[in-house]
Amino acid sequence: MYSMQGNSLDQCKALVLNSYYEPIRIVAWQRAMLLMFGEKVDVLETYTNSFVHSVSQNFAVPAVVRLRGFGRVKNKVLRIKFCREHVFVRDDYLCQYCHKEFPPRELTLDHVMPAYRGGKTSWTNVVSCCKRCNQRKGGRTPDEAGFNLLKKPIMPKVNQTMPDLFVYKRLEIPPIWKQYFASVV
Ligand SMILES: [Zn+2]
Repeated sequence: MYSMQGNSLDQCKALVLNSYYEPIRIVAWQRAMLLMFGEKVDVLETYTNSFVHSVSQNFAVPAVVRLRGFGRVKNKVLRIKFCREHVFVRDDYLCQYCHKEFPPRELTLDHVMPAYRGGKTSWTNVVSCCKRCNQRKGGRTPDEAGFNLLKKPIMPKVNQTMPDLFVYKRLEIPPIWKQYFASVV
């Protein structure tokens, strides 16, 4: 058993990179320690004020780890969970039909191709939409309703989206992670 020491250790999470230094997931620090002990990862960064100590040793809590080995992990890309708030983040809180910005409570999700006509509930068929446009569109496609879709909906890329998700959830992204994201937070 290890005892813990340091500030808000419970909130310490580790960013996991694949062997190409691309962020692929976020794990609890305990998981990162197991990966470290199992020699599955190299530790690139540690939290400077958080330590875990066993009877004989102290360990700095890993902040960024990189998976060892190529190949298998290469294509393992973090998938961003499809849900309402993540769609809003992807669309920058802009109604995709009237192109105006709205607070989350005034936005809803809209199926570009209506669900009753076979439209899927997926990243590529669901967009952020204000309630007014949603009502006006009804069960039509954007073309039929005379709407100009702001951009074609796609599955968001993690490098672009992950920092935004942190901001959205009012979580602070650990400064030590920032250099590993392509976009500037
Ligand atoms: Zn609108």
